[in-house]
Amino acid sequence: MIIQLKSGTSKQLAEELAAKTNAISFTEGDKWILVTSSAVKKLPEVINGYAETQWVMDSDMQLASTHYSAAKREVTWAKTAVGGNTNNTVVIAGPCSVENWDQIEASAKLMVGLGITTLRAGCFKPRTSPYSFQGLGLEGLKMLAEIRKKYGLSIITEAKDSSHIDAVIEHTDIVQIGAKAMYDQSILRACAQIRKPVLLKRGFGSTLQELIQAAETILSGGNNQVMLCERGIRTFETKTRFTFDLTGAAYLKYYTNLPVILDPSHAMGYAYGVPDLTKAAVAFGCDGLLLEVHPNPKIALSDASQQLDHDTFTKLYNGLSGIAKAVNRQIV
Ligand code: PEP
Ligand code: MN
Repeated sequence: MIIQLKSGTSKQLAEELAAKTNAISFTEGDKWILVTSSAVKKLPEVINGYAETQWVMDSDMQLASTHYSAAKREVTWAKTAVGGNTNNTVVIAGPCSVENWDQIEASAKLMVGLGITTLRAGCFKPRTSPYSFQGLGLEGLKMLAEIRKKYGLSIITEAKDSSHIDAVIEHTDIVQIGAKAMYDQSILRACAQIRKPVLLKRGFGSTLQELIQAAETILSGGNNQVMLCERGIRTFETKTRFTFDLTGAAYLKYYTNLPVILDPSHAMGYAYGVPDLTKAAVAFGCDGLLLEVHPNPKIALSDASQQLDHDTFTKLYNGLSGIAKAVNRQIV
């Protein structure tokens, strides 16, 4: 159950009521919100007289659900906004990893030239093999901060471990939680305490309910800047890297109040399929796209097979606004 306490309720009283009802408490604007287990169906007696509104929930998809808030949450960074009433489809693009200054600067120049506001690039790479390139770490973050300053781009990068969060939010704009980290309680709880946007990727073996509950962990700390990302799930199919779960994305779009970002690059795993999937994702009416683009994909140090080269990406990007318009959206 979600319980909104009356305006003017003190912190002390809100926390006391939360403790008595085993609820999580946080503030939204000037109101205290208490969230109990969804098994609670009746306003607990101790709260009688203190509640302004309450919502009975049928599962622990609570704060993320359209039952709680039918309006889509707006997530904003620098000059970019998604969700809310915007009808925006944000294109976030860039290499899988920061590899060196020339590579990341070439990527930044491409994005600025196209009018793209947000660059992606990883510094802490969650590689399956310990022998693969692991990312440049803090050195990469410093390059991203420099790019951000020099080109006025917003930056999204992954925090692979909760100890990275402070550095990631100091140097960049959006924290990405990778598919392999979706269940990491310490990352989720650290992201609950910050007030910067978080892009939460669905684990490739995770149900939609599990993804949403991971999002609830962030939301219930009072960070309402959460975006969900579908990036492909593992199925019996082996010809493609993953299976792009647009049916799941349709569920998220309908039942949650969080912006839905689609990542065709990781789903497909091969560059040849990415343009078609990207067009389908725009026609789907997603709130944003996460695309891997590299100045020279052949020599990329991670995810080489799926990254688009600059010419292919430019052509693709220039064709997206017409598709967006047809579904009453605009590319930003
Ligand atoms: C990435 O975005 O480069 C990445 C590692 O993605 P995922 O967590 O979806 O595998
Ligand atoms: Mn990648």
